[in-house]
Amino acid sequence: MSNYSHPLQKSAQYLKGVGPKRIESLNKLGINTVKDMLYYFPRRYEDRSNFKKINEVSAGSMETVRGRVLTMGLRRLRGKKTIFQLALGDDTGIIYGIWFNQPYMQNVFKVDEEVILYGKVDYYRSLQINSPEYEILRDDDEYATIHTARIVPIYPSTYDLSQRYLRSIIKRCVDEFAYCSEEFISEEIRLRNGLISLKDALLNIHFPSSGHDYEQAKKRLIFDEFFLLQLALALKRKDIKHSLPGIAFDLSGDLLAKFKKLLPFKLTSSQEKVIAEIESDMASSKPMNRLLQGDVGSGKTIVSVWAIVICVQNGYQAALMAPTEILSRQHFLTLTNLFSALKIRVGLLTSSLKKKEKEEVILKVKTQELDVIIGTHSLIQDELKCKNLGLVIIDEQHKFGVIQRAKLQKKGKIPDVLVMSATPIPRTLAITLYGDLDESTIRELPPGRTPVKTYWISERKRTDFYEFLRKKIAEKNQVYVVYPVVEKSKALDLKAATKMYEHFRDSIFKEYSVGLLHGRMKDNEKKDIMDLFKKGEIDILVATTVIEVGIDVPNASIILIEHAERFGLSQLHQLRGRVGRGRAQAYCVLLSEAESQDAVKRLSALTKTNDGFKIAEYDLLIRGPGEFFGTKQHGMPELKIGNIISDKGLLITSRQEAFSFLEKNQDFLNDCSNNIAVELMEKFPDYKGFVLAR
Ligand code: ADP
Ligand code: MG
Repeated sequence: MSNYSHPLQKSAQYLKGVGPKRIESLNKLGINTVKDMLYYFPRRYEDRSNFKKINEVSAGSMETVRGRVLTMGLRRLRGKKTIFQLALGDDTGIIYGIWFNQPYMQNVFKVDEEVILYGKVDYYRSLQINSPEYEILRDDDEYATIHTARIVPIYPSTYDLSQRYLRSIIKRCVDEFAYCSEEFISEEIRLRNGLISLKDALLNIHFPSSGHDYEQAKKRLIFDEFFLLQLALALKRKDIKHSLPGIAFDLSGDLLAKFKKLLPFKLTSSQEKVIAEIESDMASSKPMNRLLQGDVGSGKTIVSVWAIVICVQNGYQAALMAPTEILSRQHFLTLTNLFSALKIRVGLLTSSLKKKEKEEVILKVKTQELDVIIGTHSLIQDELKCKNLGLVIIDEQHKFGVIQRAKLQKKGKIPDVLVMSATPIPRTLAITLYGDLDESTIRELPPGRTPVKTYWISERKRTDFYEFLRKKIAEKNQVYVVYPVVEKSKALDLKAATKMYEHFRDSIFKEYSVGLLHGRMKDNEKKDIMDLFKKGEIDILVATTVIEVGIDVPNASIILIEHAERFGLSQLHQLRGRVGRGRAQAYCVLLSEAESQDAVKRLSALTKTNDGFKIAEYDLLIRGPGEFFGTKQHGMPELKIGNIISDKGLLITSRQEAFSFLEKNQDFLNDCSNNIAVELMEKFPDYKGFVLAR
């Protein structure tokens, strides 16, 4: 549907004051059209509406003053340096505005003019403000006061676009074009949810005249954003429900009965509950699309194995994809052990296999000489063709993108899909990200686990801690020591980890067996080290984050995390999850000299709770959903204004509205004049992909 004639679709260059150079800078901010500019929201606001008399301002605070220019002058210093000084007076005193190296400021002001200054007040022989924001109160000025004397918007910007410029240009844009924006949600929905008009919202989000105006504007725009997102999800869900029937698996076979007898432990009631949910999905002819959540160590693997057994006993193949080589191998071993007595044939496909081995596995999958195929991203390669794929399982789903999920699914006709995540997703995020998935959650840990004790220590305590380690290793505990390796400083970081390993091996812990594991090692080297650690032949494993997800060595009960401040909260929780899997009391020790407020918050949060859901919610709050998961990868559009945690209420109501709208307007997408359809298409240009990627 062509929309080019619409005024909001005009290039931003159409605005007065935007030339070819400025438009380039604006483009960099993502502003191409007039509409982009209307939707370029302030990052924050400053309340500059409270004037003070000059004798009332205090040094150190942000203040707004108003007065007349008494005198002004430019002083040249050594080199090319200059100071421009302006004395501003009201009936109580004098304050100076000072600009360094901006000689042109002398052309901006005139003596006797009325001026407003805003900025941080200093006292240096007299009251002064360095590089204040200013406003000249001239009658002929089109925008008398938009930079001071009101609630002033501050925009995210780059160095080549000043706040002042952006603010003026956006003001012009809002004044000229906000009225052209077309209402797309119905009067009925607006009234029911107490929402102001879109025009007012666009005006007031930029230039609110009060806190109340701002709140109303924000509410309306957040609602819009969530509403469209939820509508997209609702459509996606509808598509799935209406798609061709999937496989109706028979639950009553021999294999499953045998498998139940072989279970190495009694399932927790939480595991039983989610298994029942999965069984009912699998038995139905509707394709399963389920997210299985559970904190680290809650026992998701066995649940997925259960589903695999059902799949295989019905004559289908199952694929299990995991994000790392180490984890894939671990799953391969676990499943091989469990399945040997059941005659279920399991294969492993990773990039480290020799060419010949790969070809063999691929052939066996093609001919169904293998029932289960486990692997890393290697599974989605085009060469791998499944004869009869009935079930797709994705472990540590948050490490994959929607596209990868979809690619694996396409290897079968309409396979059932189970995705698992050990990064527990707060309910609100689950709705937003996975609105198209049903969810099951394991809420308890297997019995006999004592909660991990977490401590945050500083360098000073390092030697004491080594003593503690000695004692624990003597009691046959195994230890992980984790080093951060950041992409930016990879080489240096790896060196640090390797050094530490050598230091341990050759001096501090030379009486013990010490191992090293990092991402640069060859895959079979990694495998050998992991095997030794599993067998208990390595006491201390110095590792990078290659061990972050999934690794299960119950006898490892202590983890030391070096430079803990360099890890994100969820990542720390994942790492901590490597211990506390056996009966021994487990310890997680964070070594860090962190001082930044953020880091302190993260580390102390971790010492306070073991609850993955609380941690995830907290992490989400600190970092926002974008960074939390890397939204791009997840196919979720960046949220501009809504925050799924703090605006939870709006998320839920907009979701209800979106779903009921779709219910009543099944075919609205076919109606090109429908404004919601227009907005939706604009927001999700790759909407088709969105559907396919279900
Ligand atoms: P995650 O949910 O993190 O993937 P795993 O599936 O790796 O957790 O399970 C963690 C550990 O708990 C494994 O060693 C597994 O054998 C064990 N486990 C799982 N379920 C139970 C249970 N019901 N009782 C005892 N141990 C269990
Ligand atoms: Mg796992």
